[in-house]
Amino acid sequence: MSIAQDDLNLKLAGVDREVAVMCIACGRQYPVEAVNDGCQSCGSLLEVRHPLEALRSTLTPEWVKQRRSEREFPYNSGVWRWRELVAPFSNANLVTRNEGNTNLYEDARLAKYTGVDSLWLKHEGENPTGSFKDRGMTVGISHAKLCGATYVACASSGNTSSSLAGYAARAGLQALTFVPAGKVALGKLSQTFAYGAKTIQVDGSFDLALDLVRQVAHAAGVYLVNSINPFRLEGQKTIIFEAIDQLNWQTPDWLVVPGGNLGNTSAFGKALYELRELGLIGQKLPRIATIQAEGSAPFYAYYKNGFKDFQAVAPETVATAIRIGNPVNLPKAQRALEWTDGLVETVTDGEIMEAKAHLDRSGIGGEPAAAATLAGVRKLTAAGVIKPGEGVLGILTGHILKDTDSIVQYHSDPTLPGANAPVKVKATLEDVLKLLGL
Ligand SMILES: *Cc1c(COP(=O)(O)O)cnc(C)c1O
Ligand SMILES: [Zn+2]
Repeated sequence: MSIAQDDLNLKLAGVDREVAVMCIACGRQYPVEAVNDGCQSCGSLLEVRHPLEALRSTLTPEWVKQRRSEREFPYNSGVWRWRELVAPFSNANLVTRNEGNTNLYEDARLAKYTGVDSLWLKHEGENPTGSFKDRGMTVGISHAKLCGATYVACASSGNTSSSLAGYAARAGLQALTFVPAGKVALGKLSQTFAYGAKTIQVDGSFDLALDLVRQVAHAAGVYLVNSINPFRLEGQKTIIFEAIDQLNWQTPDWLVVPGGNLGNTSAFGKALYELRELGLIGQKLPRIATIQAEGSAPFYAYYKNGFKDFQAVAPETVATAIRIGNPVNLPKAQRALEWTDGLVETVTDGEIMEAKAHLDRSGIGGEPAAAATLAGVRKLTAAGVIKPGEGVLGILTGHILKDTDSIVQYHSDPTLPGANAPVKVKATLEDVLKLLGL
């Protein structure tokens, strides 16, 4: 077949440009328009490979600047602005809500709390459905559309469900979400069924729900959008592209992120690797520090034993978004740490909620898993791992309103630092002034 014929076939399939979808273990290749949740030869993870060598001359700092100034579809999306490094789907297949374009905050109080000189917090809770999941979901759902899917499904600790439900509704696809019964924050659960997803509560952990949805996907030809889906991670890479652009292409020394299924850890490693290959950043990559909750820390244990012996755990933590005992992206996350000289740290639920109280009081706010980033930075600084003068980019993964139960519970206990429960008063001026001591 001639090259022109190949091009034509790709265009017919809704794909503008060839990228490889490839198994990270055995190298087997798959067509872009195939629906796959793993390698059919060896069962390992798939990833999208871009022709970096060929893109090098196009994707220059000038190109970045030009794209940043675009105001129209699809480049007004913080994901599709980088489409050459995300996915080559044609415009007709894109399902987007102009996700991304999130703020990068500096806050003197939080810098002091964590002990860091230069702290930048990128708030991915500012995405359309309130978490970074939207950056992956726009790519996953666009791919589902390209593949002609009718049903799209995921297992979720909450935010993937919310995001899937929202994007499926935009695309006119039916969403199925499998969630661990009683273990999803109410903000996420209610958002999911409000957007119209069929919500199936599974009697067991997230890990069990994922097993189940994979079986359903295989048995019934349903399109799976968990982070084993390689296209989702391509969208999540743009958190890093955008943050480094906001930092005027000065890379920080550290990149700190909470870890559950380790999709972000994996995507961030790949993002940095690609930026370096393209010559957009220097040779020295920021070190990725993945923060796990102490009760849900299988990646930490694996890291500590030199990546020799992985043991899944029965997860527990107040940060339900990272309540995961058997992370699906393990080999990719390991590779990300190896590329970036990264590490894994744990924080307790107490540390997470204390950091959250500070994060919220700063006026920025975030859900518990987002606060794990801050707690992790504080711990690594106190331990002397993050050194004076080093710059830290922390990722806040979800919005403050996602988990209001945890907020009410925390602030109802006056013994906890910063607890700020509402007070009741009789509706007279006298009583109010007395209460306020004025
Ligand atoms: C999904 C999620 C995480 C975990 O991210 P992984 O990529 O699975 O490690 C962390 N925080 C929030 C708010 C999430 O929704
Ligand atoms: Zn394989």
